[in-house]
Amino acid sequence: MIRLYDTMTREKRPFVPSNKQRMKMYVCGPTVYGRAHIGNARPAVVFDTLARLIRHEFGEESLIYARNVTDVDDKIIASAKAEGVDPSVITERYERHYLEDMGALGVMPPDIAPHATQEIAPMVAMIARLIEQGHAYEAQGHVLFSVPSDPDYGALSRRDREQMIAGARVEVAPYKRDPADFVLWKPSADGVIGWDSPWGRGRPGWHIECSAMIAAHLGETIDIHGGGLDLIFPHHENEVAQSRCAHGGLPLARYWVHNGFVDMGAEKMSKSLGNIVTPADLLTQGHKGETLRLALLSAHYRQPLPWTEALIEQSKTILDRLYRAAGDAAPGEIDPEVVEAISDDLNTPAALARLQAIGDPGSLRASAALLGLLTGTSDEWFRGGADEMAIEERIAERAAAKEARDFAAADQIRDELKAAGIILEDGPGGTTWRRE
Ligand SMILES: [Zn+2]
Repeated sequence: MIRLYDTMTREKRPFVPSNKQRMKMYVCGPTVYGRAHIGNARPAVVFDTLARLIRHEFGEESLIYARNVTDVDDKIIASAKAEGVDPSVITERYERHYLEDMGALGVMPPDIAPHATQEIAPMVAMIARLIEQGHAYEAQGHVLFSVPSDPDYGALSRRDREQMIAGARVEVAPYKRDPADFVLWKPSADGVIGWDSPWGRGRPGWHIECSAMIAAHLGETIDIHGGGLDLIFPHHENEVAQSRCAHGGLPLARYWVHNGFVDMGAEKMSKSLGNIVTPADLLTQGHKGETLRLALLSAHYRQPLPWTEALIEQSKTILDRLYRAAGDAAPGEIDPEVVEAISDDLNTPAALARLQAIGDPGSLRASAALLGLLTGTSDEWFRGGADEMAIEERIAERAAAKEARDFAAADQIRDELKAAGIILEDGPGGTTWRRE
């Protein structure tokens, strides 16, 4: 029996799917304008682990897992402008990197990856329905969701009105009827990415994309909606409101699951604070993706995870021990205590502790696989050294930067590799590398 902590009800309760043959899980995915950091990787690893557990419990085909790609956004538009390229150049580059980085952490691709730019029609249709039903209104080329029209608004985040207005850092705009109202559609200036709509040429607000894509791909009510703690308000509160109002009061999700932050010292890791560590950098420095995955699973997913050098070292030591114990055994029976621990609201610290006590190598391998660990051979693990693929990838990125005459970016990559003890040598046949 899987038990999950549901943010909506604020309690841990048995996970009872609406249909055991066809469960639906949606997790808010990346906005693709920069390299993912370890804080971004945490939900990818956590929900990958939950997907593995559900498939173990209910069968390989029992789950449809969707994770979206936000590929239209003001930050993407700003990056594209700064580089003088089309936004698709930015989004394709960083989506590719995202999949590479998450792949290195053993994250399996989701079953469906809807892209916002490909789903404008369902968004426009949902916005039109909200206007028709009196939950949204048009003003100066914008369409806004009317928060006072939804008496249940605030149920997920349990904030009062003052906190909601303060927390949303809402823009004070003359066209808003209420300061808490949020944007569903906004106008695009000439030369900025946009689509024709009944309200003029523009682009969607962020929140509507998830509501519209969930309805289009998974249906009106899904089993699990996931994401980081920081998404509860305003993003998920707004998703709930839009979907419920558009679907005659049906709930958007039956369970809301949120992971905690990765902390750097006293503050959370975030791009805006400039304190980020990326999987790409750590891989280049020679750490293995599996080490980073174990580090991310070492704390309970709802707790904050302090990210330190010591944590990475400790995770590697545990994997050394596990690989030694597992040897080259073929997977055997899964240990019931490991399943029990993960089933208890993804208690991965307890599952990792149990793994280290399993004596049978085959059982160890099979049980670790449930956490996405011990997926390679012991031989590969102990070969050690920097991840050569990651170095080659950085060299290719540097070559591309040089070709685009972005010498600052090219120099930065060379310096980063040097800091990791990797020396690049440019020759007539291309760039080679050696260890310092
Ligand atoms: Zn979302």
